[in-house]
Amino acid sequence: MSPVLVPDRIGRAAFRSVILSAAGNPWISALANRRGLEAGANRFVAGETLADCIPVLDRLQAGGMRTYVIALGEAIHTTEDAAAAAAGYEDLIPEVAARGADTTFSIKLTHLGLELDPELAWRHARRVVALAAEHGAFVRLDMEQSDVVDQTLDIYRRLRSEGLDNTGVVLQAYLHRTMNDLIGLLPLEPNIRVVKGAYLEPPAVALQKKAQVDAAYLQLVRTALAHARFTAVATHDEQAVAEAKNAALKYQADHEFQMLYGVRFGLAEQLVEEGHHVRICVPFGADWFVYFTRRLAERPANLLFLLRNLARR
Ligand SMILES: Cc1cc2nc3c(=O)[nH]c(=O)nc-3n(C[C@H](O)[C@H](O)[C@H](O)COP(=O)(O)OP(=O)(O)OC[C@H]3O[C@@H](n4cnc5c(N)ncnc54)[C@H](O)[C@@H]3O)c2cc1C
Repeated sequence: MSPVLVPDRIGRAAFRSVILSAAGNPWISALANRRGLEAGANRFVAGETLADCIPVLDRLQAGGMRTYVIALGEAIHTTEDAAAAAAGYEDLIPEVAARGADTTFSIKLTHLGLELDPELAWRHARRVVALAAEHGAFVRLDMEQSDVVDQTLDIYRRLRSEGLDNTGVVLQAYLHRTMNDLIGLLPLEPNIRVVKGAYLEPPAVALQKKAQVDAAYLQLVRTALAHARFTAVATHDEQAVAEAKNAALKYQADHEFQMLYGVRFGLAEQLVEEGHHVRICVPFGADWFVYFTRRLAERPANLLFLLRNLARR
């Protein structure tokens, strides 16, 4: 099995599907949680605690980069877990904000209980975002699987309607609905992160071919740069970055590039050298496995890297 053969033999979409399905397997998850961080997941995850994160934030900031942190965990099973996740953010935000660096936050609403009770997630999200506002901090709602997009956009709108402007949302280019969602949000002068989309979605709701997703991404980025209040162009795709640079110049758009910790760091450094703003996502937490599988699914070579490391142990 070579890095080249994996996508050729089983196809990129099939590869993604196998890896993302494995994320739900408790046996694999338990095995990975025992050995995975040291075996390679720490390339993408700063560690299990905020203390693990701080040196990473310091390093990135010393390199001229902005950062955002996310406490990993999603699709939790009890209201107690949701309350614990919200309380975790209530501890995290003041501590990180007190460092005085440009670090923002992301949350996943399923981590705050969205799938158990949307009203519960709303109450937690409102408390977290209001606390962040008191500390001059910004919190973005990540976008998750397609069946929670409506609820996520709904909570974003409710936060904004309460005057909580220190929040933004994410739009995924692979969903057929997304351009309409962007147009619908524009009256709010939104702060939007534009991504390609990382979940396993059926053809009825999402584009399946990479070339189609790439094209939809460029269109969404251009539209956001032209009309949104702020656009975070979140990608490691050099062509998309080049197009975004041109569009941002053309529309004089307030924007930044965003990338994930452990991915295409050279590209991030190059952008900083050219004078662009770059923000790196620094994830941490004990529940890192599902996040990690999405990074594996994005690139078959990552799986081979992990398997080689596990075999060496
Ligand atoms: C800051 C940030 C926040 C995100 N937030 C969300 C979100 O809220 N919801 C959501 O659904 N998705 C999110 N994503 C993930 C996104 O949807 C894509 O799955 C991911 O960014 C890969 O797409 P790409 O744009 O980098 O382009 P691709 O065409 O997939 O990749 C371009 C190149 O980047 C490199 N690359 C990409 N991914 C990896 C990887 N994992 N490991 C190593 N190299 C890689 C490869 O060299 C590849 O050729 C986020 C991505 C970023 C950067």
